This record gives sequence, C-alpha cells and structure tokens, in this order.
Amino acid sequence: MVTERKKLIETNNLRKSFFTPAGELNVLKGIDIEINQGEMVAIVGASGVGKSTFLHILGTLDKPTGGKVFFEGIDLFSLPDLELSSFRNRHIGFVFQFHYLLPEFTALENILMPAMIYSSSSRDAFYERAIELMKYLGIYDRKDHRPGELSGGEQQRVAVARALILEPGVVLADEPTGNLDTKTGEELFELLLELNRKKGITFVIVTHNMDLAQRCSRVLRMVDGRLFEESVTR
Ligand code: ADP
Ligand code: MG
Repeated sequence: MVTERKKLIETNNLRKSFFTPAGELNVLKGIDIEINQGEMVAIVGASGVGKSTFLHILGTLDKPTGGKVFFEGIDLFSLPDLELSSFRNRHIGFVFQFHYLLPEFTALENILMPAMIYSSSSRDAFYERAIELMKYLGIYDRKDHRPGELSGGEQQRVAVARALILEPGVVLADEPTGNLDTKTGEELFELLLELNRKKGITFVIVTHNMDLAQRCSRVLRMVDGRLFEESVTR
C-alpha cells in the first residue's frame, strides 16, 4: 500500500540570533526540514542548543532572524501580525512543560478557551468536542475542577485537550512530560502516541527522554544550530 504523504510544514534556511548585551548569539544556523501530515516527530538535543527556540518559531510565537516557515504552503511570517495570531490560535496547538492553565477557570473552561478566542459564539459549538476530549483523555470527572485541584498529570491532560479543541493541523509540545514523574510522564506520552496513531494528529515534540523519542515515527537531533535525522531503532 502506498500512503500519500501531504507536506504540512517546511522550513527554509531558518535562522535565529539573539542580540544581547553580552554579544550576538547565533542559535539556529539554517534549518531545512519538511514535516508531513500524520508524522510524530521528536526533537532531541543538549540543553541550551535551541530546541525551544525552534519550536517557538514553528509555532509563530517568535520570529526568525532569517529564512521562512511554510504551513500548508503559506509563508507564515509574510502574514500581518493580526492574521498571524488568528492563524496560530486556529491551526497550532501547544503543550508546554508547565501547563499554563488559567487558575480561575475550570478544566472545561480552560479547554474551551481557544474556541472562545476564535469566536465568542463558538463556545457552544465546541462544548460537545470538549466533553468528548475529556472523556477520551480520562479527565471527564474533573470537568468542573480548577487547575489547582488537579494532579500534574491531570493538568497536562487538560492542556492537551485545550491544544486539541480547535482540531489544529499540528500540536507542538515542548518537554510535555518534563515536569511529571516518570510513570505519569510515560502515561501522558502514551496518550500523545495514541492520538497520533488513532486520530492522525501531527506532533512535533521536544524531549530529552531518548526512550520516549525512539517511540516516535521520526527523531531529529539538534546539534550546533542544525537538525539532523537520527535513525529510529525499534
Ligand atoms: P533548549 O530548548 O534547547 O534548551 P533554548 O532554545 O531555550 O534551548 O535556548 C537556546 C539558546 O538561546 C540558549 O543559549 C539560550 O540562553 C538562548 N536564548 C533563548 N531565548 C533567548 C532570548 N530571548 N534572549 C537571549 N538569548 C536567548
Ligand atoms: Mg527548551
């Protein structure tokens, strides 16, 4: 069987430098990658090498110093700022090391937040999906709880549901298990793998856990500002 792979993301000679009082820091030195729909890509590499910087630029949270990012052929950084932020909200899901849930809102309300930003009338339209996601992720009985009443693993599941509510083209996750104990982290990672395999959701995940990375369909290692394909040994 030949499965057709649709190109989702492409970067062309992506560069990022930071200009600090201590001097110029060249973090990304020309990254050219393609990511297809349905892939589960792990990004590994030493601390401080630029993994988060790269993920933030893919997610349009930061701008590159040079080069381009294409998403389904759209040159993202050519979009005006307002269009770019609505694109980000609509098409990119984020899961960070820390959940960044809003403490005053319930789990359900946090999950619906991107839908409410998308359009104030869309809360009801996405309500059923939020419930479905909570059931799928095993947090339905925590629906009306605030983040402070949830365990670390539950908080991250809420963050995953929030990332998925608008059915984004890709979910970018930066050390999503980094703040969890080993077992809880593995369970969360397992859920992400399942979402990829069963629901076809494309993920780009930064992790320093090689065992987890090796379970992804593709591993990229960042070394000295560039990304290299690493063989997946399974
Ligand atoms: P990683 O996620 O791989 O640990 P980061 O992408 O967070 O690495 O950081 C890469 C390098 O860029 C580090 O040396 C970091 O100190 C530097 N850096 C990150 N963000 C900034 C910033 N806003 N200003 C200056 N330097 C930064
Ligand atoms: Mg980082």
